[in-house]
Amino acid sequence: MDKKITKLSYTPQGEKLKLTEKQEEELLIVYSENEKGFLEFKEFYNPEITYSKNDFIIPIRSVYGGIAGIEENITFANIIGSTDDPKPFGYTVWLDLMQDALIEFLGDKTYVEFYLGNCVTDKKFYYKDSDTEIIDDSKHCKGVIVGGHIISGDTPSEIAQGSTVYLLPICNKHNGWYDRKGIVKKYMKATASQDNPIYAIILNNYFQKE
Ligand SMILES: [Zn+2]
Repeated sequence: MDKKITKLSYTPQGEKLKLTEKQEEELLIVYSENEKGFLEFKEFYNPEITYSKNDFIIPIRSVYGGIAGIEENITFANIIGSTDDPKPFGYTVWLDLMQDALIEFLGDKTYVEFYLGNCVTDKKFYYKDSDTEIIDDSKHCKGVIVGGHIISGDTPSEIAQGSTVYLLPICNKHNGWYDRKGIVKKYMKATASQDNPIYAIILNNYFQKE
């Protein structure tokens, strides 16, 4: 049983192709899950082949780069200016794309709904004063969970068109890159383990709207 994920956002190159709906349905690529749980490019889709349950079939124009299952502590930061990003094709919110992709990947709808219902951070904010790390644990999570565009590391920043970015479920509060005191150099941490991995959606060659 193969898995088709058909509603995803486009790369800039993909957008230029201006495919018809029929072409969109036919031009697919196949990703295969490796032993680490990451998806790797396998081949162009061939309708005469029966793919296995480890294969994921996605449109050729898509930015979807698979799912990273992270099993260690990670530090990440917001992407500045991602609020007005083009919405993924066929979706109105990024969280829905995350849900569909994760259900396809994990096959466990109940767990995916639970996973996407919680902010993956440790509920704190971090920032740096010179090189000293300041932990701000007075701010608890607030607001709805969204599919936040993040980059790894400890510096919120804008990203160049074509960068690889990640989507993680975080609360609205953690999705903001500055606070009322004007602290913009905030970053976040999440704890993961083999039993509780963090699933990040990878978006390749991401197109950020001006
Ligand atoms: Zn939060």
